[in-house]
Amino acid sequence: MVRHDGAAWCASGTRPGRTVAWGAGLILITTQRGPRPADLADVRATNLAVVLRFVRANAPCSRADIAASTGLNKATVSSLVAELIDRRLIRETGLTENRIGRPATMLVLDGAPYAAIGLEVGLDELTVVAVDLAGTELLAWRRAFDGSAASPGRAVSAIAALASRAVKRVSGQGRQVLGLTVAVPGLVDAAGTVRLATTLGWRDLPLGADLRRALREPSFDVVVENDANLAALAEYRQGPYAGTAHLVHLTGGAGLGAGVIVDGRLLRGGRGFAGELGHVSLDPTGPVCPCGRRGCLEALAGIPALIRRALPDTAEDGPITDFAPEVDRIRARARRGDPAVLAALAETGRHLGHGVALLANLVNPEVVLLGGYFSVLAPWLLPAAEAELVARALAPEAGGTRLLASTFGTGAAAAGGAARTLEAVDAGRLPRHEPDPGRAGRGAVGGDASRKAPHRATGRPGPEPESGTPGEDVDALPSALAASPPGTATDNR
Ligand SMILES: [Zn+2]
Repeated sequence: MVRHDGAAWCASGTRPGRTVAWGAGLILITTQRGPRPADLADVRATNLAVVLRFVRANAPCSRADIAASTGLNKATVSSLVAELIDRRLIRETGLTENRIGRPATMLVLDGAPYAAIGLEVGLDELTVVAVDLAGTELLAWRRAFDGSAASPGRAVSAIAALASRAVKRVSGQGRQVLGLTVAVPGLVDAAGTVRLATTLGWRDLPLGADLRRALREPSFDVVVENDANLAALAEYRQGPYAGTAHLVHLTGGAGLGAGVIVDGRLLRGGRGFAGELGHVSLDPTGPVCPCGRRGCLEALAGIPALIRRALPDTAEDGPITDFAPEVDRIRARARRGDPAVLAALAETGRHLGHGVALLANLVNPEVVLLGGYFSVLAPWLLPAAEAELVARALAPEAGGTRLLASTFGTGAAAAGGAARTLEAVDAGRLPRHEPDPGRAGRGAVGGDASRKAPHRATGRPGPEPESGTPGEDVDALPSALAASPPGTATDNR
């Protein structure tokens, strides 16, 4: 389910609106409550985006619906719709709605000729997803990746290789790639340089520039962003909590970060480094954190800390680089009622609740979503976490903050990476116009993607049922169980 509350209402000024402006590697979600000023140089592009957002939110709808709701006059709407149809961003359904007077032709989102790609860098795997403009998933691949052992140079090569395959796949289907967004567990500046990623051992790595070079300076945007920020964007844009104005996503992978949306805006801070909840110190005498400090939330409640606590035998194996099998073991033992594992999960839950209480006091979120591997273990983490949250937050009932499991599982940041590009289109950064009469005849581009059944858990569309697709549906991997064994690529090309 995709919600775009009121975005298309900007022109009328009668309802709150939401738009997304962005620059080099920058996401800025703003909430507008009045008439939208003609702040973009191209008023027509703005109006095209208004119509596009309306159709995304309200399809099927007619030209008259658009005119009535946006305040644009009918002639302008007809002209804008004609251009959007020409650009294959929307299409007529062939259905009409009988009304008083002439029957109205209904419009729906098209966007099948376009693709947005999100790629998530984890410590143990790379995940890439591509969606078309309607949000329909085109591919979802995972690849084993040893982020702790790979040098930055080798890591860039692996990321570029997977991105390149995804680009090749969707381009081969006749689609125009609109953007590639790479999610990294670390501090990323506006230029796409990873200033610090402790779990990966990266410092001042110009990932954006390196990837653009490795991809031979592509015509589409290559953006690098913090993984928690993108995961929060995915939650805000789709899934059961879409449109929640005060929302937090906690990543549960090698690191622990918070993507924080406040009043519909992603909280980035002065240099874009906000949300490092994992490195808030809860216990100065606690265990050493990968950042070098002691007692950080990440060192107490991160997935590696949980694995060491619940499965003490793993200490003999050295650093853990593949979490999925260990998380699977923890879950299996928890299901069997293993007291030591249940105690370890409860202790981890208490630390998480402590951290969330800090968020509750500072930003009073409506929902805090446990992401990544936390979501798999949520049934055992949540009771202790909720009790700790209520005990530590100042406001009664923790200010209404609800602590819940994310429905994305792992891969939320990859989905958010693709969503970032779609947000930019919705905000008026329309794809370059390439009239190509031959394109419509290419069978590979399905024009009816919007009819696909939504995903059972997330409400997101299911995967393209394409014969020979070597990838797998990320969404169909609800747990750590389904991740690939080390050295195994799920994309077998
Ligand atoms: Zn730390």
